Amino acid sequence: MTSILSGDETVLRYSATGPPELSEVAADAGVTVAAVGPSGAPAIEPLVSVTQGGQTTFHTRCSADELRELTAGLDDGLPTDLADAVVDHDPSATSLPVPDLAGLDAGTRRVTGGWGWRRPTDPDDHEAAGGFVTATAEETERAGESLRGRGWGDWCQDEPLADTWETARHTDGEATVVVNAHGTTADALLLASSPFDVLEGACATARTVDADRVVVYVSEADEDAAASVREAADAYPDLPVAADVVTGPSVYRAAEPTMAIEAVEGNHRLEARLRPPGPAEVGIDGRPTVVHTARTLAQLAHTLRQDGPTTRLVTVTGDVADPVTVELTEGDSLASAVDATTVEGSLKAACVGGRFGGLTASLDVTADPASLIDAGLGTEGVVEVLSESRCVVEFVGRRAQFAADENCGRCVPCREGTTQLAELLRDLYDGRYDRDGIEELDRVMRTSSICTFGVDAGRPARTAMAAFESEFEAHADGRCPAGACTAEVTP
Ligand code: SF4
Repeated sequence: MTSILSGDETVLRYSATGPPELSEVAADAGVTVAAVGPSGAPAIEPLVSVTQGGQTTFHTRCSADELRELTAGLDDGLPTDLADAVVDHDPSATSLPVPDLAGLDAGTRRVTGGWGWRRPTDPDDHEAAGGFVTATAEETERAGESLRGRGWGDWCQDEPLADTWETARHTDGEATVVVNAHGTTADALLLASSPFDVLEGACATARTVDADRVVVYVSEADEDAAASVREAADAYPDLPVAADVVTGPSVYRAAEPTMAIEAVEGNHRLEARLRPPGPAEVGIDGRPTVVHTARTLAQLAHTLRQDGPTTRLVTVTGDVADPVTVELTEGDSLASAVDATTVEGSLKAACVGGRFGGLTASLDVTADPASLIDAGLGTEGVVEVLSESRCVVEFVGRRAQFAADENCGRCVPCREGTTQLAELLRDLYDGRYDRDGIEELDRVMRTSSICTFGVDAGRPARTAMAAFESEFEAHADGRCPAGACTAEVTP
């Protein structure tokens, strides 16, 4: 099959994750049909588009009946009268011509350029878009000196990749590259919509560390992502290393890099490993192993392929009309990501950086990791919006209880600390606010827990006390300013 990204024929694209009837109607349209991956904006899917030359119509939440209606008139030209958006573009566009549709028109589209536009597992589309460039080990090494890991599932989270590569390269034994796509929306979307980018980054890393095996690790809840990357690995031209796809339990902690290794090895009880040594020295089956998230590896592939701004994927969730995943340059503010959707009510706070992110009242902070860390926030690439009706004390209490329930139990500071933290936050409802005690407990967890789970578990409470102290004092006085805490909902 040749690429759909060139040529003059009419191309009908539809979301591959839509209902089966959609593909049946599309197949009868009498034009070139392409099943594409998720766009990053689930609220407008199934998304259908029709392209003729340099113009594309977009049709959101398209039902089989609507598709039947628009395909019936294709002989008369593009169905612009039925479209939610129409875009003029380069006839051989390799990236989504961005329509004026909520969720798609925010940020930039570089790593996400093929989402909703290219067939995820078709090598011709990837090739036409400039993919499968084979970078030398030296070129990759240079890129890894400045590129930082993305996500808490990356062993190089917020750190340059090259140091870890060097350790793996100089450790005896054949190395392994783990693609950790477990647990975050953006990583699963990358596998579902642009798996070749992720595999390309993994292959470049494998060349650099002399690895003979790539393992893609996915939550068992992300079936579409696992199926897509399996198909892409089979279709990858001259795949330089063996590639396996392994699924693991969907619990949050399973994304931690050493627990990911435990899961890949088939261990049922997931516990973080003591470090040092880190995985680069002793990883899967004792072999040197580098663990990167799908986000890191897709970014690496794009960096090797072309110059351009370093970007971050940010998923906006919480009290918003529709969750969305957008791509920001590191100079863009997080507020611009939230602009991609609609806050339900008015924004009171946001938890920035995932389950154990930082609470803030202001999203006027740029997406680069240094700025996020300076602001006390997390770099996980998730902004969870809390509207005026939400109580931050209740929110952080539930996060502390989640940490107490979900930690792996391996180390005392996290196992006991998260339980004590939940109790100290519950004490607020009995009139006791021990700010010093909470801060001291957080400090101990942060400085002596084995893995990132325990290091970060106190961050929601710590940052909420700094930004919303009056709410903590009010609860100790028997009041919930948001009116959200009742006997039934106290943490
Ligand atoms: S920090 Fe928590 S999750 Fe990590 S090893 Fe310790 S108990 Fe387990």
